[in-house]
Amino acid sequence: MTTIHHLNCGTLLVPSYPTVVCHCLLLQDGDQLALIDTGIGLKDVRNLVERLGQSLIDQAGFQFHESDTAVRRIEADGLSPRDVRHVVLTHGDPDHAGGLADFPRAIVHTSREEHAQIDGSQGRYVPTQFSHRPSWKAYGRSTRRWFGLEARPVDVGFTSEVLLIPLFGHTLGHCGVAIQQENRWLLHVGDAYYLRAELTTDDHPVSVIAAQRADDDAQRRASLEHLRRLVRDHRDEVNMIGYHDLSELPSQYPLPLRR
Ligand SMILES: [Zn+2]
Repeated sequence: MTTIHHLNCGTLLVPSYPTVVCHCLLLQDGDQLALIDTGIGLKDVRNLVERLGQSLIDQAGFQFHESDTAVRRIEADGLSPRDVRHVVLTHGDPDHAGGLADFPRAIVHTSREEHAQIDGSQGRYVPTQFSHRPSWKAYGRSTRRWFGLEARPVDVGFTSEVLLIPLFGHTLGHCGVAIQQENRWLLHVGDAYYLRAELTTDDHPVSVIAAQRADDDAQRRASLEHLRRLVRDHRDEVNMIGYHDLSELPSQYPLPLRR
């Protein structure tokens, strides 16, 4: 079975909001590794203003610590970044795609819709994070269903199945990633919620930011409703984590570094 490691590959601090993290997953299968999202990268840390721009850094509250990058996290776990053969990208926002350039040999798997947005350099993305020309594998519509949702099997060749689950709205091609674990699944929802509290209330202050940041807010709310249904009806079969909620990192995980 594929082993799942939890990595925090970035910290974002916005005044008056809780500290948020960049909760990536590292899948280990034999001698191969796959990353689910990449957090901030070494190039971001070393050339932050020229790569990201000061206004984005201030707006998102990016904190830059080399020890937070996926490369250093993987090394700290005693593994080799060179063994990362695949990256599965939920979407192309800069806090998710910054580390891509650190894994130039990896195939980057994402939805066809998201790839089209990134390829078109739509405004929210940072083109320099993709200027190394990754090897893309983009997945279009599928007839496969997963707990009532469309599922696009990801071709990583691991012993556990990996599925892209369209959860559109945050961006036009945003997907979650489901990983099979014996008789359960772990669903990484990406940014389909920022904080887990959004599963139970529409009144959380972060819901305002989620609506503002959505490329299609009606789709975002529909995706959130699907997640609420999964929690209600399939709690015994599906575990769920998001990308930004600090409380969802494993409890033994070191707390994020502050500036
Ligand atoms: Zn994000």
